[in-house]
Amino acid sequence: MKRFVKTANLVRSAGVRLGTGALYYSGGLTLLHAGFPHTNGHATGPFPFAILLYHRVNPDEDPFFPAVSVKVFEAQMRYLAREFRVLSLADIIDRMQQGKGVEPLTIAITFDDGYRDNYIFAHPIIKKYRLPATLFIATGFIGTDLLMWNDRLAWAVKNSQQKRIVCQFGQRELALSLRTEEDRLTSLNTMLEELKPLPEAEKQKLLERIIEALQNKKPQPAELMLDWLSIRNMAQEGWDIGSHTVSHQILTKVDRCRAAEELKLSKEVIENKLQRTVGLCAFPNGKRTDFNSTIKAMAKEVGYQAAVTTLAGINGRDLDFYELRRWSVWENYLPTLACKLSYSYRRANL
Ligand SMILES: [Zn+2]
Repeated sequence: MKRFVKTANLVRSAGVRLGTGALYYSGGLTLLHAGFPHTNGHATGPFPFAILLYHRVNPDEDPFFPAVSVKVFEAQMRYLAREFRVLSLADIIDRMQQGKGVEPLTIAITFDDGYRDNYIFAHPIIKKYRLPATLFIATGFIGTDLLMWNDRLAWAVKNSQQKRIVCQFGQRELALSLRTEEDRLTSLNTMLEELKPLPEAEKQKLLERIIEALQNKKPQPAELMLDWLSIRNMAQEGWDIGSHTVSHQILTKVDRCRAAEELKLSKEVIENKLQRTVGLCAFPNGKRTDFNSTIKAMAKEVGYQAAVTTLAGINGRDLDFYELRRWSVWENYLPTLACKLSYSYRRANL
């Protein structure tokens, strides 16, 4: 059954590739874009805009640390520069809040977490195509060798000397295989999904126990995250830097005081380090259960102009500035991304 589903998925994705490829290479999308209203540079109207979300960009092809490949990233940036109006997220927010609106096919590029590869691999490409971008950093990790909890776990699973591990999640005991690479990836996924919804303190305790049981002797990678010097360089070269809190803990899984402090402190640290105002924040994990009306009100109170989530979709009518939607980019095949974007803009315009 599993194999059948896998084959069906493969056939489906090959079909999608074929279809989107045909549309893209025949110039059909350009025709579609030509159908959007022209405003001759005078932006008006409630035109929808997408906010793309990236995490890592590198050539590693390491399945334990998923990333967009440098080649794919460059093709995507070239395409955006050619077909879209790429504005910085801060500019879009300013325009919307001043009631000016944006032009059709406006889009913003954002990155979360603050991985060093953003500076090494994404930055030169962003610069080459003169695209504005926003980076949301979790300030507690910047300039340190600390890893985010999911990366710590991925590293321990990848390099574990065990062939199998038994984990206790609440009342349930799960025996997870670490025999093959595929087993390890599946087990890692199970562990991440089990740990993610737990309150932060409990998650941390369980995580330490699992990491110890995994018996990994390989030292953790150093300098995985950015340092302040690189961030300063990026900011000077046009990047906007936003807050992704201090410790990247899910704000609904810590007490109110802590959540407010995370939002406030990270803003202050970035402002001090870069000597510029920080108006945007990204809620860690950013799904529906990872923020709520209290957290949104806190972000406003602390002085953020807007907040982004990881809720999928395009921002159109009924915009909530503290619940902006983002498009996580995992499409490797450019025509597929291009078709999905075009279709979504068209639908949002209706
Ligand atoms: Zn994040």
